[in-house]
Amino acid sequence: MKHQMKTRILLLAAAAVLFACSAARVTGGTMLIQSIAVGQLAVNCYIVSDGNSREALIIDPGDEPERIAAFVGEHGLKPKYIVFTHAHYDHICAAGDLHKLYGVPIIMHEAETGTYQSSKEFCVSRGFSREDFPADFQTVREGGRITVASLVLEIIHTPGHTPGSMGLSGGKALFTGDTLFKGTVGRTDLPGGNTQQLMGSLKKLTALPPDTRVLCGHGEETTLGRELKSNPYLNEKFKLKLYQ
Ligand SMILES: [Zn+2]
Ligand SMILES: [Zn+2]
Repeated sequence: MKHQMKTRILLLAAAAVLFACSAARVTGGTMLIQSIAVGQLAVNCYIVSDGNSREALIIDPGDEPERIAAFVGEHGLKPKYIVFTHAHYDHICAAGDLHKLYGVPIIMHEAETGTYQSSKEFCVSRGFSREDFPADFQTVREGGRITVASLVLEIIHTPGHTPGSMGLSGGKALFTGDTLFKGTVGRTDLPGGNTQQLMGSLKKLTALPPDTRVLCGHGEETTLGRELKSNPYLNEKFKLKLYQ
């Protein structure tokens, strides 16, 4: 009984709403970035919206579609796209329900479709409906753009954690998925992972200005400058060792 109670409290704590809100000006409008930590692995589902039109994109809806939809409703947002930084199940399981609810396209990198197919089956085994996940998703590639009202996010292909991981960059913000975290980087030991590719991807990301906000797939946000100084995976010694 005691154990059950403890488990329930832990689950409730995991399900607690963690909202963070910030705004950055982009050309002609204001980009609002809001996040909800969803699922047992506390994936950061980001809701990025244009302050004027309230049009929005939903990045990495990993679980708890009802909480995401409630948040969208409370803020009067109008979702236009669902976007995956990558298609591991913890980042996509609520996408089918939200796609059905809003009738908006799902976007992922063209090299991520294999990961999507296998993760989708895992979501189905966890009670999500296979029929809600569309087969006609849209794909993007390096240098592509996703535009919602005044918001423009550029695609940076960042393979390594998965073959089609991608960063989304715009308005001095960078959504890194599971490629770069505060103080660490994404694992490369899962199917499709590749450490050499991850290092190349980190090099690409860290070429952006140091004051760029880094919004990670899990955990707290950081900046590129801070990570360049303190993240052990980005220091020269580590890179030299890896490339020897
Ligand atoms: Zn992942
Ligand atoms: Zn993840």
